[in-house]
Amino acid sequence: MHITKHKLSFYIFIVGHLQNIFMEHGLYLIGAAILRYLGEQVPLIYCLETEPQQGEEEQKVEQRLLYPLECFLFGEDPCVGLQKLQQYNSSSSAQQCGRVFKEGETVYSCRDCAIDPTCVLCIECFQKSVHKSHRYKMHASAGGGFCDCGDLEAWKSGPCCSQHDPGTSPFKELLTDHLAQMLFHLLLRYMTDMLVWKETYELSEELKVKEDTYFCVLYNDEHHSYDHVIYTLQRALACDQNQAQIYTALIDKEGRKAVKRGTLSSCFVLVTGCVVGLREVFCQVALEPAADNNQLCLISRLMLHDAKLYKGARKVVHELIFSSLLMDTEFKRQFAMKFTEHYKQLQEDFISDDHQRNISITALSVQIFTVPTLARQLIEEGSVIKVIIDTVMDMMMEHLDSNNRFQFQGHNPDKFFRVQVIFHDLRYILISKPSVWTETLRVKFLEGLRIFLHFLCCMQGMEEVKRQLGQHVEVEPEWEAGLTLQMQLRHILAMFQDWCSSDERVLLLAFQECHRALMSCTNQPFRSEPTDSYMCKQILHARPYKVSEEPVSIHLPISRLLAGLYVLLCQTGAIQYLPDFVDPLNFTELAEQPLRCVVLAAQVCADMWRRNGLSLVSQVYYYQDVKCRDEMFDKDVIMLQIAASKMDPNHFLMLVLLRFELFDIFNDNCSSKDQVILKQWNRLTEEMLYLIIIIAGERYVPGISHVTKEDVTMREVIHLLCIEPMAHSSLVKSLPENVRILTVISKVAIFKKPGVSGHGLYELKKECLEEFNPFFYHYSRPQHSKAEEAQKKRRTQEGSDKALRPPVPPPFCPAFSNIVYLLCCDIFIHILKRIFQKAAEDRSNRWTEPMIQRALHLVGQALLEEKTQLEGSSTEEVTFDFSLKAQKTGSRHGKSLFHFLTKMKSLPSLKAQNDMIMWNLQMFEVVKCLREKSGPCVVSVQSVQDKEKAERKRKAEAAKAHRQKIMAQMSAMQKNFIESNKMLYDNVPESSSQSDTAASVDRSPLSSSRVAVGPQQGVCSTDWEAQICILCQEEQEVQAQAPAMVLTACVQRSTVLTQNRGKTLSPKGTYPLFMPPDLAVGTHTGSCGHVMHATCWQKYFEAVQNTTRNRLHADLIIDLENGEYMCPLCKSLCNTVIPLIPVEPNTVSLIQIDLCVCVITDNNSEKAADEATALFDESQAEFRSILSFGVQESITEMLGVCANTVHRVGLQTAPNDLCPYVPVMSWNTCAYTIQATDNMLQEEGKPLFGSLQNRQLSGLKALVQFSAAQRLKSSQAVIQKHFADMLAVLVPVPNVENTPSILEVDFFHLLVGLDLSIPALYQEAAVDLQPSAVSSAYNHLYLLHLLTMAHMLQVLLASHGKHTHTLAGVTGFCVEGVKRGVLPFLRCAALFFNCLTGVPPPEELSGTTESPESQLHLLCSYLSLPSNLFQLFQDHRDVVTTLIKRYKSDINRMFCHLVFRYPHKRNRLIDLPEDYSVLLNQASHFKCPNSSDDERKHPTLCLLCGVMLCAQSPCCQEQLNGEEVGACTAHAAICGAGVGMFLRVRECEIVLMASKTRGSPYPAPYLDDYGETDPQLGRGNPLHLCPERYRKLLHMWQQHCVLEEIARSLEVLNVMFPFEWQML
Ligand SMILES: [Zn+2]
Ligand SMILES: [Zn+2]
Ligand SMILES: [Zn+2]
Ligand SMILES: [Zn+2]
Ligand SMILES: [Zn+2]
Ligand SMILES: [Zn+2]
Ligand SMILES: [Zn+2]
Repeated sequence: MHITKHKLSFYIFIVGHLQNIFMEHGLYLIGAAILRYLGEQVPLIYCLETEPQQGEEEQKVEQRLLYPLECFLFGEDPCVGLQKLQQYNSSSSAQQCGRVFKEGETVYSCRDCAIDPTCVLCIECFQKSVHKSHRYKMHASAGGGFCDCGDLEAWKSGPCCSQHDPGTSPFKELLTDHLAQMLFHLLLRYMTDMLVWKETYELSEELKVKEDTYFCVLYNDEHHSYDHVIYTLQRALACDQNQAQIYTALIDKEGRKAVKRGTLSSCFVLVTGCVVGLREVFCQVALEPAADNNQLCLISRLMLHDAKLYKGARKVVHELIFSSLLMDTEFKRQFAMKFTEHYKQLQEDFISDDHQRNISITALSVQIFTVPTLARQLIEEGSVIKVIIDTVMDMMMEHLDSNNRFQFQGHNPDKFFRVQVIFHDLRYILISKPSVWTETLRVKFLEGLRIFLHFLCCMQGMEEVKRQLGQHVEVEPEWEAGLTLQMQLRHILAMFQDWCSSDERVLLLAFQECHRALMSCTNQPFRSEPTDSYMCKQILHARPYKVSEEPVSIHLPISRLLAGLYVLLCQTGAIQYLPDFVDPLNFTELAEQPLRCVVLAAQVCADMWRRNGLSLVSQVYYYQDVKCRDEMFDKDVIMLQIAASKMDPNHFLMLVLLRFELFDIFNDNCSSKDQVILKQWNRLTEEMLYLIIIIAGERYVPGISHVTKEDVTMREVIHLLCIEPMAHSSLVKSLPENVRILTVISKVAIFKKPGVSGHGLYELKKECLEEFNPFFYHYSRPQHSKAEEAQKKRRTQEGSDKALRPPVPPPFCPAFSNIVYLLCCDIFIHILKRIFQKAAEDRSNRWTEPMIQRALHLVGQALLEEKTQLEGSSTEEVTFDFSLKAQKTGSRHGKSLFHFLTKMKSLPSLKAQNDMIMWNLQMFEVVKCLREKSGPCVVSVQSVQDKEKAERKRKAEAAKAHRQKIMAQMSAMQKNFIESNKMLYDNVPESSSQSDTAASVDRSPLSSSRVAVGPQQGVCSTDWEAQICILCQEEQEVQAQAPAMVLTACVQRSTVLTQNRGKTLSPKGTYPLFMPPDLAVGTHTGSCGHVMHATCWQKYFEAVQNTTRNRLHADLIIDLENGEYMCPLCKSLCNTVIPLIPVEPNTVSLIQIDLCVCVITDNNSEKAADEATALFDESQAEFRSILSFGVQESITEMLGVCANTVHRVGLQTAPNDLCPYVPVMSWNTCAYTIQATDNMLQEEGKPLFGSLQNRQLSGLKALVQFSAAQRLKSSQAVIQKHFADMLAVLVPVPNVENTPSILEVDFFHLLVGLDLSIPALYQEAAVDLQPSAVSSAYNHLYLLHLLTMAHMLQVLLASHGKHTHTLAGVTGFCVEGVKRGVLPFLRCAALFFNCLTGVPPPEELSGTTESPESQLHLLCSYLSLPSNLFQLFQDHRDVVTTLIKRYKSDINRMFCHLVFRYPHKRNRLIDLPEDYSVLLNQASHFKCPNSSDDERKHPTLCLLCGVMLCAQSPCCQEQLNGEEVGACTAHAAICGAGVGMFLRVRECEIVLMASKTRGSPYPAPYLDDYGETDPQLGRGNPLHLCPERYRKLLHMWQQHCVLEEIARSLEVLNVMFPFEWQML
């Protein structure tokens, strides 16, 4: 509050004055005074400014409205008053958090403790609650709910977080109560009046506006697009687009412009939010019935006007309700009653509203209906079930046809969608079933159910279909609306049943109601009278009906509800009282409709309904799909099972045959030669057999057999895993909603952890396999065949037979036990016999293999049943006589079922079923033995032999399987290796002559000399072996006269090594000649190591450019303008080529060198002081030239191509091959790439030599050779000038100025530059001369010695930093520190000279075991340095003394700069927290630096530096090179030199970015307990960091593979609609 003391006293004066008025004239006058004040001030504040400055406006509100009112309320300084109140408050009763969620905010629920999934916590409460360690779930809020912390009814345990834990002492009455009551009343009235105000209303006297002020008001709706509004505004206001955009954004946020929301309520929010006492006062005011006109309380008026309000006002009103009325149990109840009272009106308003639901008052239902006690009260006192269903019914009226059934043809989907939302409310009300039933509750519940049944009646039999013959159906009938309705209802149906099951009386009455409702439905009447049908001496008296000819519907909610209730009756035992409630049931009648539906599905499957179009196919699909089946197909099966248990089994099967329209066929009364019809019959027979399998075998429903819900889930999971091992999420997706698998899964499956990619899998436990049923009724057709195949394959591998026998089912409950007699009745035997007979006689077209398979399964089921019964009781008691009937020879056909079965054994066309037939025959034996009670069954000789044979076979196959397994393992391991080493994996199909790694290369006879520098230098062998062009596959020697060969390469700027992240190179710096010691931005040149002819590459490159140009969005994948292409072999992204420089063999022998050595060393030790300057005029006797003559034109050309790319990319400038810095940039990229390589090796803990892949090493070698060749391309004067400038850092060089001090350069860059430019000194304008091998060796040696000493000094000075002002101070410095500091330089130098000279390094350097000390020793020997580096200073004492004097003069200058320590720190990605919710928490505190609105932000974390950015938002866009870009792109340009690696926190997704326009999503390195990532947090399981995956990301970045990864993923995605990555 920015109010001065002076003003404060003024307000207190006014308040005092007001209080005096109050004393004298009472409330009325003072109220009028305040209203007048408001009427004056509010328009002034909100309306006058055409373009309100946000801050200013808020300040005005604060000053002119809120503050005076607060003063009035407290009668003193409001700060003091509030504090007093809060003191009372801190000790007051239970508090709720009530934080209102914004859209996109992460909310938490607890799977263990939440009463239902709508109970959620805000992140702050969650972090402080006990649920943090439970199995929680997180998701993004849709906006508009609030935190349930402190709500005792929402949580089974831990209802409060530590912050909202209730105290004990009661709340004291406050003095300010009267005032508060009056003030709140006044303000709420004012607010309501103003919001609800229409022009026609007369305002109260005090509020009348004196002058005529009108405002043009634009209202927001969801119909007009952003662009449309912008366009209209531009036209209407004649403003520019930017202005229009600003307006539009405001309109979208607030809902209207020019008139702002009644911000007064924010004062309420403030007050009610923190003070319980005032809240109570406020609630009373809001709910008290108004004295005047219509008796509506203020809150009702606001509610009823909700749909007429604009967006911003709604938000405020809702927030007000959240923070006041809903925070208190009693007021919540009162409010809920009001809400229910107006429910219908509110929903009607919502339906015709044009806003989304989350900003409608109706969305409040979730807050009140889900509270169990409240829901019960609302049912009992408000008849809320009835109210809700009545509301739905009213709205659906328009869809009713003349038969009072729904018909959705031509409905309005948007409106229909809004109607559906009402079903959510019904679900909320029913969420928790009552533990205690009162008589009122029973009455009200049944009243609700009756209305609900009335609604279902309109669905029963709706959208009938009739089979189309001849012509295809013209208009696809509407089906989606009906099924959507069904999906909405399934939960409600389940809940109604659940409620019923908890009270016997309710259950019985509900069944009665439901039965009555079903009987009243006159849909689908029979058209003719019953007739008699005969089969096997049985007579069925039934009405004829044909699914294929008469209308049929798949919507039978009442039949299915009845089936559900019947099972509940059986389960609870209440079935015994049923006769008291309903007349005897006619089961034939009850089964009729479900049977028709099943037959319809079968006929669709048999292709009989093809002409009815896709609409019907979709309906049948959903009928059996996991989303609908539990209240559709499953219940139909139950109804059929009920009928089967009550009807005579023969009659039941005859009815099934009749409805399947197969009766005549099995009665031999009809035949056909038409192939199509025969095929249909066969398919129908298959389906019918399948139905019998299901009716007799599917018993996993509580009530049908003694199973628990857990058993049911377990069985579902087992069958899913029988198809294949599955990830947790796909398992969950394949199961019905609300099914919990967590407790079950560990019992049936083993978890297999994921690798660096992929996800965790569940594999079925061995012992569960015997429960596998190939005819599991929830398998879809493809699932069925996949599972069958998988299980057969498994059995073959195990060496067992391939018979997929039926599992032993749990026994039926008594009420259903009669079903099993289906499996031994005459008609059953008859059906099977006919089928087997056709097969045995091999009458093709009359049987199919699936038919036999099903029939064999049924025989198996029957035999298993008989076996179980025989084992359970004595033979005499067992009435199940399948085996006897099967072996009895019949009268008409003469032969028995058993006979045909035996015959089928030898049938070649049934070879695949042979194992199953054998198993069935064995089962017959077993049952026979049991019947004869001849002890444990004696297996016949035949089967013993079979068994032996099988055993041998099994052993042979087991051995084979074992071999196969080992092979598979090996190939998997290989694959894994490639997978995990993708970036390193060398897939060049080049000659095998190349050995694996560099260690074993170059084993020449002279390998004894492992010194790369100086006179002791070993033999140089930088020779290229013959290479194979990956394009034309021809082998090619790399020689000066041969066609040029090139290597793919990718040049990019890099900050991987920076010691100063976020720093960009300053334009006035000395780069590129001198790399600053912080290595802020370097140029990296990577290569995948694939070699081509230069001409082949050029052809390929041009072709790619031409074809890619025509591809859609090709520019997103590769940047053609900048010469990008993909490696033809490995598809990695490249933007240039490195030529392979041919090398002349080294002709200088060691002896020659030795001869020279004495001479030169003596010479040099004398005049070492000016050794370097002497080099200028030194002339040597021997000259050798390479390269400069007769080199293929194309090599020079390629040199130019590569050098220009490096120059252009590295300096981000236009291409310019005349720029003097072209060679410098080549040296720089050479140095930087070597440093990056060394960095990577150290990070991975790998030895310097021997661990690089061949292709990496050849890339490096090519790069060094290429850089070395640069001096030949440029003018010698330029190179000589560069050399002189560089040398000036170390020794005084005449005519060179502005040289940086030794603390301002990176010495390795300097080494490479000096070493590669020194040969230029041997050249003069006309003569092209080269240093001899000997002088080259000495040049290298002396440069290295000099640089090493200077670098040691640099390390020493740097380590002492600002504390040392004289060199004297450094003497005490730790020797080890210097050694450690110099090591990286020496490692890089070793790599460099290795690539330059090809001299093999000491073998020990290839070992990982070397300690840093011995490494130093080895490096020194390889580089021809004394093993005690300090010896150098001794050896060159004279030079050093002079030089140190020179450096000393620099020292003061030096320390002005930031000094970096050596060795440099190694850059990693930032540390991420183990628990993802910590990150979410961080993100929730994120505030956008550029805007203060409360819109949803996308906090995005830079993984390189850890900064949190505001992505994808116009508020944080920045200009980059004159282009508007998002915060991430702008940040990446600085932080990663264009490369970015971000974590989008709310989406839990990594975004890789490169070069402004390109990016790709990448899975975040967070996994849930099931080894799966969760992009967009769709599943919301707790997530934990996977270090391996994070490491993989680090490597990708360190190895400069980000760009490549992006190109690769874009290539795979093949985007249709490009994402604008630059706006991120
Ligand atoms: Zn909270
Ligand atoms: Zn809390
Ligand atoms: Zn919990
Ligand atoms: Zn070629
Ligand atoms: Zn490649
Ligand atoms: Zn960053
Ligand atoms: Zn922002």
